Amino acid sequence: MGRIYVLPSVVADQIAAGEVIERPASVVKELVENALDAGSSTVSVELEDGGRTLIRVSDDGCGMDRDDAVKAMDRHATSKIRSSAELIGVATYGFRGEALPAIASVSRFELETCAASDAEGPAEAGTRVSAKGGRIEAVQPVARTRGTSVTVRGLFFNTPARRKFLRSSRSETRAAVDAVTVLALARLDVTFSVTCDGRSTLEAPHAATIIDRIASLFGRRTAEGLIPVEWGDASLSVRGLIQRPADAKTSGRKAYLFVNDRPFKDPFLIRAAENGYRATIPSGVRPSVFLEIGVPGDRVDVNVHPAKLQVRFRDRMLVERSVEEAIRSALRPVDAAAVLGSPSSDRGAARAGGGSAPFGSGSRGDFAGGVGSVPVPGDADSASTGTLLEPSAAAGTMSMQRPDRLLQVFNTYIVFETDDAVTVVDQHAAHERVLYERVMEQLRGQGNVAQRLLLPLTLELQTDELEAVGNHRDLLSAVGFEVDDFGGRSIVVHAVPNPHPRFDARRCLEELVADLTGGRLGGLNRLERFAATYACRAAVMAGQALDQEEMRELVARLFGCALPPHDVHGRPTIVQLPKHELERRFGRA
Ligand code: ADP
Ligand code: MG
Repeated sequence: MGRIYVLPSVVADQIAAGEVIERPASVVKELVENALDAGSSTVSVELEDGGRTLIRVSDDGCGMDRDDAVKAMDRHATSKIRSSAELIGVATYGFRGEALPAIASVSRFELETCAASDAEGPAEAGTRVSAKGGRIEAVQPVARTRGTSVTVRGLFFNTPARRKFLRSSRSETRAAVDAVTVLALARLDVTFSVTCDGRSTLEAPHAATIIDRIASLFGRRTAEGLIPVEWGDASLSVRGLIQRPADAKTSGRKAYLFVNDRPFKDPFLIRAAENGYRATIPSGVRPSVFLEIGVPGDRVDVNVHPAKLQVRFRDRMLVERSVEEAIRSALRPVDAAAVLGSPSSDRGAARAGGGSAPFGSGSRGDFAGGVGSVPVPGDADSASTGTLLEPSAAAGTMSMQRPDRLLQVFNTYIVFETDDAVTVVDQHAAHERVLYERVMEQLRGQGNVAQRLLLPLTLELQTDELEAVGNHRDLLSAVGFEVDDFGGRSIVVHAVPNPHPRFDARRCLEELVADLTGGRLGGLNRLERFAATYACRAAVMAGQALDQEEMRELVARLFGCALPPHDVHGRPTIVQLPKHELERRFGRA
């Protein structure tokens, strides 16, 4: 008897604060979300000493009258929902009514606010609520314009354990700025600014397109190098912007996910996005992605995490698969290839998005992939006269148009004219992409038609190389290499593939075996790794002269691929010099 107490609300608030308020960045996130929920068009954030000394978030939103300002300090006090039913598809960032009391319980807290209707009234129509460690100390009238400012001083002054866990001022600042960045990506219609110790750190004026917003947050170059993602329909869509494979680096990537304009974190979805890049980037490279998942409100639960950092999808596998597929189709069009010169507003990323919805609105389901509209030289039928490529290869089905001339330069690049660009194809990279996709089909299916040799080859190998051959015998034979042990350290080769007339089977096999032994190309599965290695070794080399028919066929095959613009190592197969860039340089534009 008498052992059970109901905790005083200040203690309960401090416990809640443990979950919701971890560091200055969490305060910034909650206060900026409140400002956005209040319909603000300008939100400014001030930090001192990484938020340790001072955090202030000011907005020009709807504000609160005196009664509401006091009530807002209570636990579970919210204006955003009335019943649990309203949680389904809730559109505001907040709905738990925890943030203000939680922040107030671990700081010296001051709220100044003035409701829209009071702003026209007498001069002292605003309200100031001051609290310390969660206890309200004063409620006074103040003069102020419409909106709200919350000032948080001495964060964690009364919970020293928490205060000790704060990192350096620099890293707290970085986390806080990132919290604003995330919300700035979700709400283009709002102007955001952050000053740290008096210096402006982030300036994001309201933006017409997501490109403009990314440009003010990360720089114009980053923004305009991205390519658009546009996938799905009303029941599930994936839209946004992603980095070109050739631009992706091993560090410093930016990965932002949103569902119905709400930011969330999900390493598995990021992984799914990376899977979409498979065989276009080397392992260890991390592409930047900005992705908005669109689902009906009842297909996602946003109330699964105290700080609302995670969400739960009803059909998670489908979402993962869709993200991967969306990335895949974004990489397909030739516009996903590398571009020379300045990106222009009428191509690539610049086409995506518009209005206040960050990732554009309407026109969902427009994911036809640009390949069909790309004029490409050659003709699928020319395969029957196959010279450069094996006759068994099946070309793509899109309509093709023959440019009159293909020019080989430096015995390495194929140059031709397309609608609005001079297009340059790297013959080795292109052939590699073609062979890779073919070989993947062969490895999964029937295998290749090998060419039996009248005089078998013998190769002498190192012990580890012999082992690599043993381990990959099935795959070697699937691409056309029939190999037997010859005794000792030798193998004998009875049949070889024939990917092009100048194919040097012995050299290819030697290099292939060396690569398989060395275990390059991590990250891919065994099949993909083998296919990539074979493709690289079997492809026509740079420096090899090609005739018109061979070039035509190679280019036709390339455009018949699933992902024409990228080789398997993160290099482009195609580089375009846009017509507008020529015009710009020659002063015609
Ligand atoms: P929640 O956002 O989950 O409702 P909070 O504790 O963050 O809970 O805020 C409590 C309430 O205070 C909100 O529902 C809102 O009505 C009001 N409020 C908080 N911040 C602001 C603001 N910047 N402008 C107007 N009203 C605000
Ligand atoms: Mg809130």
